[in-house]
Amino acid sequence: MTTKQIALVTGANKGIGFATARQLGERGMTVLVGARDTDRGQAAEKALRENGADAHFIQLDVTDDESVARAAKRISDEFGRLDILVNNAGIAAINRLEPPSGTSLDLLREVYETNVFGVVAVTNALLPLLRQAPAARIVNVSSEVGSLAIMSDPTHPLYPFISITYPSSKTALNMVTTMYAKELRDSSIKVNAANPGYCATDLNNNEGFRTPEQGAEVTVHLATLPDDGPHGQLWGFLMDGKGSYGVVPW
Ligand code: NAP
Repeated sequence: MTTKQIALVTGANKGIGFATARQLGERGMTVLVGARDTDRGQAAEKALRENGADAHFIQLDVTDDESVARAAKRISDEFGRLDILVNNAGIAAINRLEPPSGTSLDLLREVYETNVFGVVAVTNALLPLLRQAPAARIVNVSSEVGSLAIMSDPTHPLYPFISITYPSSKTALNMVTTMYAKELRDSSIKVNAANPGYCATDLNNNEGFRTPEQGAEVTVHLATLPDDGPHGQLWGFLMDGKGSYGVVPW
């Protein structure tokens, strides 16, 4: 069995996920490039390999039970364990922003399918393999817009953002993270949520003020925590005007 660490990043064909795969690959890990679309996934694998990474495309649509099961079986057959799971795949439906009073339940369901249910499906399918690793790490890519503390603070710059759909999916993801962290507290697995900050990607029509590489730094930090590192936190970019990283309030 390989001694190299094995990392799976969902939604790794572009944006923060691609940058995360590249940074983990640069650390000498085997990177499994999760992507729902074969052409986009293979193109990402190729780009990462050209950059020197040991990258392998793996078809993974987090909303498709069969795809999730197939991916878990392939990782089990080929590697027998998983050291790092990055639940990065996400959608924001930013071009369909609705006020709470006009929330479309179909859109809400669509966003939750990926951002919440998809994370639980992938995590549960892969936990047996994460338990086979000596000290696995799970990183759920969340957001400060899911923070109840931040979004209800009238002095915070994000206060004017009013929508149920994406923010509440990340609030749910924060609780999902907390609950896995509690269940796994006596294991060697660490579970944390990442706040990448506002990064320019397709998710926000490339309007973010940080780069995907900067967003990925947060994920990589949590994916490579030492054994005495934190567990059950939302950690990452702080909107403190200094570009600092730290614990973000739930
Ligand atoms: P992005 O560039 O739009 O990338 C999203 C990735 O998720 C794409 O690879 C996309 O694949 C994939 N994806 C979507 N639905 C999927 C599904 N059902 N199964 C598998 N993959 C799926 O967005 P991003 O900004 O890098 O977002 C990455 C994560 O960071 C998300 O969880 C997002 O909520 C979070 N985040 C982003 C920001 C930001 O400012 N950008 C801030 C906070 C948190 P396709 O190419 O096939 O669509």
